[in-house]
Amino acid sequence: MKKITLRAGKERSLLKRHPWVFESSIARGGGDSGETVRVESADGAFLCWAAFSPQSQIRLRAWSFDEAERIDAAFFKRRIEQAVAMRMRLAIASDAWRLVHGEADGLPGLVVDRYGDTLVAQFGSSGAERWKGAIADALLTATGLTRLYERSDAQAREWEGLPAQTGWLRGEGETALTIREHDWRLTLDVAEGHKTGYYLDQRDSRRRFADAVRQYGIKSVLNCFSYTGGFSVAALAGGASEVVSVDSSGPALERAKAHVELNGFDASRHQAWDADVNATLRRCLQEGRRFDAIVLDPPKFAPTAAHAERAARAYKDINRLAFMLLNDGGLLYTFSCSGGISPDLFHKIVAGAGLDAGVDGYIVERLSAAADHPQTVCFPEGDYMKGLGLLKR
Ligand code: SAH
Repeated sequence: MKKITLRAGKERSLLKRHPWVFESSIARGGGDSGETVRVESADGAFLCWAAFSPQSQIRLRAWSFDEAERIDAAFFKRRIEQAVAMRMRLAIASDAWRLVHGEADGLPGLVVDRYGDTLVAQFGSSGAERWKGAIADALLTATGLTRLYERSDAQAREWEGLPAQTGWLRGEGETALTIREHDWRLTLDVAEGHKTGYYLDQRDSRRRFADAVRQYGIKSVLNCFSYTGGFSVAALAGGASEVVSVDSSGPALERAKAHVELNGFDASRHQAWDADVNATLRRCLQEGRRFDAIVLDPPKFAPTAAHAERAARAYKDINRLAFMLLNDGGLLYTFSCSGGISPDLFHKIVAGAGLDAGVDGYIVERLSAAADHPQTVCFPEGDYMKGLGLLKR
């Protein structure tokens, strides 16, 4: 077993069970891509077993802090069984959920979503890549399912120096699927959609939005960054009579339109605008259009803390415009899924946007990813999704 020795003092985060070690913390040692290595402090104390990533800034990802534990196929079986069992305890209002959420499930670099009886996996680190076969077998055994599609085409693969890989890993069949979320039916294609096909993390917020639309008697809704219209279907279910989905992806909008009909809503209550959100918000303002509710669910503007400042300006800008486009008493559902923007910073950005727009808001909701995307106390980076529900004062 190869050994990695850290620089003096650099063992601190591992002692707090944070699973990452950056390249700059390593004094000596190396390994092959994804190889399991023994990590020790400068004075030779065991810290963890970890996967080695020769090309990534995150050079080591801990598999286990238990010196007696062996990293083998049985290890992955145990971790995956634990992740599956945790989801069984949740009351998930869908037949689609996140089964493995990387670090939070003790499996750094691995993401697995379940859509009905199809599993979709992203192997985002050298360690996960190395154990792909054992992980695939364990996933099928733990779930009793037979179909596993691989979507290892996220940007993290590049940082790890791994090529993109997609296709059936186990079993085969249709990649176009229909799922049930709350009372709604939604479609996706696991081969073509964003991420693994759908944004499962916003499930709870879509439910709350539908309830809020009903509660506040909201009629007109502008759903920005709509993707396939999850929040638009929620708005229609809540009783909105005029819903606009805005996204720059044509195929996503086609699906949004199809979702309106699939769920039995009159197509005349919904419009799909293939456009840039920022330009659309400005145009609406110029044209004097106003809405009772606006959803802002942008893509990750700040993948890491290093991008936070530029991202903060981009978040502030869309939130300022949204505040100005809201009718009095209107509802703003605003999100950031950037790991580099803390909930506290996001709150400050939205406050700044309100100040610039000359608008204050009552915070009626604090939103986060659904519980099948768990956060753990040892891994604050897991708290990537934050949102606020605001009523314009
Ligand atoms: N709210 C969605 C998920 C949004 S993901 C849901 O509930 O499923 C972010 C979306 O923003 C993607 O669909 C992407 O196509 C879109 N997007 C990214 N940049 C954009 C831009 N500048 N203008 C419009 N849409 C954009």
